[in-house]
Amino acid sequence: MEDIISEYNKLVEEISKCTKCPLHRSRRNPVPGEGSINAEIMFVGEAPGEREDATGRPFVGAAGKFLDQLLASVGLRREEVYITNIVKCRPPGNRDPREEEVNACTPYLWRQIALIKPKVIIALGRHAAKVLYSKAGLKWSNMTRMHGKVVEATIDGHNVLLAVTYHPAAALYNPRLRDTIEEDFKNIFREVRKDAGKEEKTTRSLLDFFKKTS
Ligand code: URA
Ligand code: SF4
Repeated sequence: MEDIISEYNKLVEEISKCTKCPLHRSRRNPVPGEGSINAEIMFVGEAPGEREDATGRPFVGAAGKFLDQLLASVGLRREEVYITNIVKCRPPGNRDPREEEVNACTPYLWRQIALIKPKVIIALGRHAAKVLYSKAGLKWSNMTRMHGKVVEATIDGHNVLLAVTYHPAAALYNPRLRDTIEEDFKNIFREVRKDAGKEEKTTRSLLDFFKKTS
């Protein structure tokens, strides 16, 4: 455990000084991620936005509020999960991260996964989904087909359940997507609980179950 904490701190330190891609020039604060390093569940978004860049924390703007509600809807608190992004610095004007930026930054994500060893990874939005599917050697089609699905995946030798849904920010401009994402969360957590081999009424019990068996 000591080792994991010091490795994690080292990783955060590296990200805070990182100049591996041009995004470091315009960032105010890098956003490494936050939550429990014992988390069974990891969320991966796209990139920090305005509020995240200002605070150094992931999902603290309007999309973050919706994510908090989604977490609450399946009985989870932010501190129990781990939340990060594909790229750790804000792209200017919130443009999509470029391929070279994603390639420069994702080694940090692979190290986060290797350290935290989540049982479940939930990709928020198609950018995160594509990057994770590709890393796991799985074939991605499109969000319309894939949202709400849970698949078995191996990332650098580590087995996880990989789930995808739309990006919570997309729901801010499209109220119908809100319902879809809420529905996806329900389905994903139902699926994950089934996979944990136990019928449990609450997701909190899923966490307890994971703790007992790991
Ligand atoms: N959108 C993201 O993809 N990540 C954040 O951290 C905030 C908004
Ligand atoms: Fe480094 Fe990632 Fe920030 Fe680029 S986005 S400077 S690779 S931490």
